[in-house]
Amino acid sequence: MVGDESLIIVMRAEATSDDVAHILDRLSEIDAEAHVSEGAQRTVIGIIGDRIRVQQLPWEAFPGVERAVPVLKPFKFVSREFQSEDSVVAVGTALVGGGNFAPIAGPCAVESRDQLFASAEAVMKAGATILRGDAFKPRTSPYSFQGLGEEGLELLAAAREEFGLPFQVEILDPRDIDLVVAYADMIRVGTRNMSNYALLSELGKQPRPVMLKRGLTARIEEWLNAAEYIFKEGNHNVILCERGIRTFETATRNTLDISAVPVVKSLSHLPIIVDPSHSAGRRELVAPLARAAVACGADGFMVDVHPSPETALVDGPQAILPAEYEALMDDVRALADAMGTPI
Ligand code: PEP
Ligand code: MN
Repeated sequence: MVGDESLIIVMRAEATSDDVAHILDRLSEIDAEAHVSEGAQRTVIGIIGDRIRVQQLPWEAFPGVERAVPVLKPFKFVSREFQSEDSVVAVGTALVGGGNFAPIAGPCAVESRDQLFASAEAVMKAGATILRGDAFKPRTSPYSFQGLGEEGLELLAAAREEFGLPFQVEILDPRDIDLVVAYADMIRVGTRNMSNYALLSELGKQPRPVMLKRGLTARIEEWLNAAEYIFKEGNHNVILCERGIRTFETATRNTLDISAVPVVKSLSHLPIIVDPSHSAGRRELVAPLARAAVACGADGFMVDVHPSPETALVDGPQAILPAEYEALMDDVRALADAMGTPI
């Protein structure tokens, strides 16, 4: 109703029944309706009442209150309020989220069978659980290599057969959905398409999990709204990927917003992984940023690995060598052990 405000008051796990009763008293004083739901972990109180009167009260200052969240938050379904437990997304044989860590690696683009297989074999041996490699490339220049198309998808399927790794590819055009679904285990939306709402809605209606990269200039709320477009159409297998944002800084290709990891985890139940390759744009920054992602609690990380970066048709300067990936995976395992969350 116009003039009304809807809020969800999320109580702390240790809140008492007196804390809840106190809030209900204040709500009846302002003639607001309340709906109390007692979850296994914590109690949540939904409120509907006159906007001004509801907003006047400092709910988060009440004893036992963890936070007060407007119900009309645009990204309702992907929010923590909607689902408090972490989502776990199955990508072929790999699980992502809820304590399942996903190392994703491979070449930026599929260039040839030899190049793809050399990269896939190396990342599989080093412990990657999902292969990346694109058949459709979104290039800044229309004259640059655009990817091998269906031939690239066939090579990726052959690599999955050979090395047992599920794979993901980027999609650029909604008209390619059926083709990509026929081959890939996960579909990725790149940074340039995060706000392509028609594409997102279509991806909400197909059966593969979707990795949604953060738009170059997108705020976290806009990114979660984009995820909501996919989720609300019925596809609940969405993974977020922080890949750097555009800032005034020119020392890196983009600025990796590492704080997005804990922020997204507090706002959403969706898994979040980090792509240090596309954010840094430089090989020597990839390992330190990947380690930061792990230390920060990301559910995985995705890196470009190329057997011969100097001959790469796309993104050579940021691709790491197979031996560098192996060393990085050793570091990542040690870090995960130290954090008490072994991989
Ligand atoms: C990619 O992962 O290959 C890619 C094109 O990334 P982004 O969309 O983040 O630029
Ligand atoms: Mn790339």
